[in-house]
Amino acid sequence: MLTVNAFAATSADEPLVKTTIERRDLGPNDVLIDIAYAGICHSDIHTVRGEWGPIAYPQVVGHEIVGHVTEVGSAVTKHRVGDRVGVGCMVNSCGECVQCVAGKEQYCLKGNIQTYGGVDPADGTITQGGYSEAVVVNEDFVLRVAENLDIEKVAPLLCAGITTYSPLHRFHAGPGTQVAVVGMGGLGHMAVKIAVAMGADVTVLSQTTSKQDDSLRFGAKAHYATKDADTFRKLAGSFDLIINTVSAKINVGDYLGLLQAEGAMVNVGAPSEPLEVPAFALIAGGRTWAGSMIGGIAETQEMLDFCAEHGILPEIELISAEQINEAYERVLASDVRYRFVIDAKTFA
Ligand code: NAP
Ligand code: ZN
Repeated sequence: MLTVNAFAATSADEPLVKTTIERRDLGPNDVLIDIAYAGICHSDIHTVRGEWGPIAYPQVVGHEIVGHVTEVGSAVTKHRVGDRVGVGCMVNSCGECVQCVAGKEQYCLKGNIQTYGGVDPADGTITQGGYSEAVVVNEDFVLRVAENLDIEKVAPLLCAGITTYSPLHRFHAGPGTQVAVVGMGGLGHMAVKIAVAMGADVTVLSQTTSKQDDSLRFGAKAHYATKDADTFRKLAGSFDLIINTVSAKINVGDYLGLLQAEGAMVNVGAPSEPLEVPAFALIAGGRTWAGSMIGGIAETQEMLDFCAEHGILPEIELISAEQINEAYERVLASDVRYRFVIDAKTFA
């Protein structure tokens, strides 16, 4: 076993602290990754604060991981020592059910094994995430990261990138489609950049106009404040597709009214409180209310390759491990521009 430095939550309401964790010995299909950078996703915060239900502490979170392969198991064929690789939200799945066979491991009928907080089929321990120096992952859940993507910035693609790419792709964002992105944080700003690269006309729906210049810089054609009730009157019936990335409860009916007939609103935000969907906002106009969770492994590779081809990267603020707790407060205050990335050297 390998002992590595990490940052862990020890309870729902205390700051994360420095600790050490054990990484399992490499099985034949495992890859050891020296982590270079790890992104901070709002899901990390929901998780450690117990907002999605009780968890076992101590827990190391982080599911936006990039680094280099330093060792491979005897049967590994997909990766070599020295390769630049990424790991996202999943580290395993059953591999046999209809969803896994279809390449949708995120919807594995037995439940995918999450990068943190899951039960590792290799040894029965609770999986520990990316706020650490190294990780051991089955080679099938390790992604290739192109050399032309700035390694300091690439980690957020592994969750924020795929979580927005997948529904944009599934609901055919492209030339001529009118797409709205609700909430411009980590996921939201990736949704804007990716939808623009797909050729869609993109509008940002943010709480205020404070991020307007950034929206336009990322390629959106418009930005509206949702605090202004007039926005909902002006934009009624405007969009083919709305991607909701908000981490808190929103008034879904107001947004459904912004869809054209037969338009779709896809929810990726994961607040702990239920979202209320008014029946008449759906049936009038034949609208679709849908959900989406990350993406499959093949689709994640497709997204990474798409981002490499189009030069798409997140806007990041690089921090040290000691700044994680402060970064959490800033994420909660919607004061993130637009993803915090931890320099893994600082876990030492
Ligand atoms: P984030 O960086 O905090 O962004 C969320 C954005 O939502 C904020 O920047 C803010 O945008 C807006 N917002 C926050 N509170 C709001 C409120 N009370 N009312 C209206 N808007 C509000 O979070 P993230 O990392 O992008 O994650 C977003 C959500 O997606 C989280 O719930 C996360 O757990 C979930 N998630 C889901 C998946 C999936 O597979 N479905 C994957 C990853 C994350 P403005 O300042 O522009 O208003
Ligand atoms: Zn995430």
